[in-house]
Amino acid sequence: MARTPSVGGNWKMNTDRTTGPALARDLAPAAAANPGCEVAVFVPFPYLLAVGEALGHGSSPRGTRVRLGAQDCYFAPDGAYTGEVSIHMLKDCGVSVVLTGHSERRHVLGETDQLVNAKTRAVLDADLECVLCIGETLDQRQAGRTDAVNEARLRAGLAGVTAEQMAHVTIAYEPVWAIGTGKVATPADAQTAHARCRAVLAEMFDSAVADATRIIYGGSMKPTNAAELLAEPDIDGGLIGGASLKAADFLAIVEAAGEQT
Ligand code: PEP
Repeated sequence: MARTPSVGGNWKMNTDRTTGPALARDLAPAAAANPGCEVAVFVPFPYLLAVGEALGHGSSPRGTRVRLGAQDCYFAPDGAYTGEVSIHMLKDCGVSVVLTGHSERRHVLGETDQLVNAKTRAVLDADLECVLCIGETLDQRQAGRTDAVNEARLRAGLAGVTAEQMAHVTIAYEPVWAIGTGKVATPADAQTAHARCRAVLAEMFDSAVADATRIIYGGSMKPTNAAELLAEPDIDGGLIGGASLKAADFLAIVEAAGEQT
């Protein structure tokens, strides 16, 4: 089935009050010129409002095509959780899509599958879109455990998610060893992992859900390697870190994804 490609820019802990909105202003018109691809930016919390404004959210009936995304959230609706940010707060700032389980949150900040699942379910229960990130470490890959790890991440991360809610889920397959390292999975290796993830989704839900769910690739994707990755049948877009901080690079990837439609 035809899946609309999706490209997200994960700004991580980069940009500031000036450069974030400036980057957003550079992206908005060019993204609008590529209607074949859905585009989102995952912005540091303090700059969500300013970036939303720069993207034109709220200022016109149609707004911009670039969705405002958050890099994380907390699952509880409110309360004594010092330092955390609720989904209601994100919605209040115009966020429509949230990353869960990014490898830096799992491996640097110690998030467990259980916490990732609680966040994923809370995002979906609040009627937002969720990008659930999974992927194996280098040790796991070298030990031949890539498929087992990704299956476990999918089953745990999506526990309790309904087939209807899956319409609002994108999976980001991001081999941990490729994130921010300049090392990129070969198109064939990425395709194999994506196809396996899709087969797991078919087992967990059904083939219609598996066919409809976007599985995007993340890990040092850039203009020079995007087209060949995106040409693979089960790679439905990209989650982009480093290359999303330069408008021209990010937009070249958006364009490459749009050309697949
Ligand atoms: C990411 O942050 O999800 C990512 C894929 O980063 P990079 O593109 O820099 O590897």
